[in-house]
Amino acid sequence: MDEVDNLLSDLTSQMSSVGIAGYQGKCTLCKQNIINKGTYVEASGLRWHKPCFVCSDCKADLTQDGYYELNKKLYCKTHYVERSCDKCATCNQPISDQILTALGGQYHPECFKCVECQSGLHGKTYFGEAFKSYCEPCYHKKFAPKCAACSKDIIAAGENSFCVRAFDNRYHSECYKCVVCSVPFSNDEGKGAIQHKGQLYCKTHYQTVSDS
Ligand SMILES: [Zn+2]
Ligand SMILES: [Zn+2]
Ligand SMILES: [Zn+2]
Ligand SMILES: [Zn+2]
Ligand SMILES: [Zn+2]
Ligand SMILES: [Zn+2]
Repeated sequence: MDEVDNLLSDLTSQMSSVGIAGYQGKCTLCKQNIINKGTYVEASGLRWHKPCFVCSDCKADLTQDGYYELNKKLYCKTHYVERSCDKCATCNQPISDQILTALGGQYHPECFKCVECQSGLHGKTYFGEAFKSYCEPCYHKKFAPKCAACSKDIIAAGENSFCVRAFDNRYHSECYKCVVCSVPFSNDEGKGAIQHKGQLYCKTHYQTVSDS
């Protein structure tokens, strides 16, 4: 009986290493075989079972919000930041003297930079989130809503103050007009905007373009 058991376990271990149909390598976390395509996650050249691709601390699914690696373990952003505390989020070196805490990350003051233009953000106005910090000009360039008519930034003094929302787009109020006759649209009967191929027309000019 023992012999059979031994034989069986030999057989299983042989099977588990090579020759199994669909064998995809070993899971980095649990070291078990990954059998089928589509059941694993590949990251940094390593593979995990989907259920194993979780934060080492809170077991959060990392396929959704991204993963962070520290000492060959995976973490969600929150726990990565916690674990890597006293390490600079930019250069990954320990921070000994002055720690700058911003946007949920810790930095050497000189390492806290705009990810777009690399200008130092220490002591300046900054935007964004951990690992994605921007200086004010870059943030506006990247995230300011654009006018769908003139493609320029809409920098509103207050939300909506200079901008019209229509057709899931935003427009400068001065750009919210017919592209042919430049008559501004209003809510009055027959004075509204009609969208055609991404451009706005008054009722009259919509008829001319839609006929052609
Ligand atoms: Zn696994
Ligand atoms: Zn976590
Ligand atoms: Zn640093
Ligand atoms: Zn910048
Ligand atoms: Zn505009
Ligand atoms: Zn018109």
